[in-house]
Amino acid sequence: MRKVTIDDLHLKGKKVLVRVDFNVPIESGKVADDTRIREALPTIRKIIADGGKAILMSHLGRPKGGFDPKYSLKPVAEHLSTLLGMSVKFAPDCVGDEVRKMVDELKEGEVLLLENVRFHPEEEKNDENFARELASLADVYVNDAFGSAHRAHASTEGVARFLKETAIGYLMQKEIEYLSKATSNLEKPYVAILGGAKVSDKIQVIKNLIDKVDAFLIGGGMANTFLKAKGYEVGKSLVEEDKIELAKEILDEAEEKKVTFLLPVDCVIANKFANDAEFEVVAVDKVKPDWMILDIGPETVKRFGEVLENAKTIVWNGPMGVFEFENFAKGTFEIAKILAEVTKKGAITIVGGGDSASAISKAGLANSVSHVSTGGGASLEFLEGKVLPGVAAIRDK
Ligand code: AMP
Repeated sequence: MRKVTIDDLHLKGKKVLVRVDFNVPIESGKVADDTRIREALPTIRKIIADGGKAILMSHLGRPKGGFDPKYSLKPVAEHLSTLLGMSVKFAPDCVGDEVRKMVDELKEGEVLLLENVRFHPEEEKNDENFARELASLADVYVNDAFGSAHRAHASTEGVARFLKETAIGYLMQKEIEYLSKATSNLEKPYVAILGGAKVSDKIQVIKNLIDKVDAFLIGGGMANTFLKAKGYEVGKSLVEEDKIELAKEILDEAEEKKVTFLLPVDCVIANKFANDAEFEVVAVDKVKPDWMILDIGPETVKRFGEVLENAKTIVWNGPMGVFEFENFAKGTFEIAKILAEVTKKGAITIVGGGDSASAISKAGLANSVSHVSTGGGASLEFLEGKVLPGVAAIRDK
């Protein structure tokens, strides 16, 4: 690891400002899924154990640049208190005199969570003065928010410029280590499984991976645009008409470069976009005009499985169908099962993206793959070979 990590720092007595990713779902004033909070615990516990003063900051949702109780991190402070088994203090803002006073009163081993940084529009603008104000609260900056590392915001990037000591936290370190395996020194065959709603979101990923992977397995809504590009009629399925030409170019490039590019051969079609829709499994050339493709079919799962069976490195981003509807989740869950099996046999399997991560935990297999990334956009940009601003901002060793 080239970056300074939290293990390289002396934290005792220091005010440690940590950017965490506590962007968690809140329902009726309670944390509905605490995965991201639990992922940040090792870094927080390290600061407590070393006698540092932990000042945590995060965004939550997309508030319109002012205080909004709906996006308050207060429920997170309460939940974190329970997880840590100690009282976590909560500041009503992330900058200002009151916050500074709370920071100054912090004792060694105590934890303070600041209010949502996005209540200030300066956060997303990466405003220099705002970043400087955040930095002035602390002696050391630690970035452990992998899920936000692809964004150059004040709390993820700007702040690092105003503190001499900067480091990445354990979660960030774990994410970078696993994702680096997928981009360098990886064992082949290397297979990318891509799904989700749109081709447009993943075009850059395909382009950047085409010289690296041996095979692409394409499912989900994005497969429809490729099927259409190959001349299939896909009825009322989600298709990006303006991306059909691009899909053709990608298919040609894959053929030229001898990269296996598998599309569904069969699919589950439905007469409406709902879980209680009528549905049928058909070959991709038999999609009914008024119906839509909502999942990959069993023959596709089998063919994808044959490729995955021999793979040594697999990255997966995007569900194979509308897995939120039970009747159209099968393809996604079957792929999750195959990933768990090949992991047991020694393949490195990396699942990235919010939806794929939630699909794999819904399938009960989150612990059966090598790595589930906490970052959707961030893991994709990393796999595309881009430098993440939140990582770049941290000093090298
Ligand atoms: P993304 O955020 O791009 O990874 O897309 C995830 C979303 O794609 C999920 O909410 C799925 O329901 C949706 N999706 C997957 N397959 C299809 C499909 N065949 N038609 C429409 N939406 C789909």
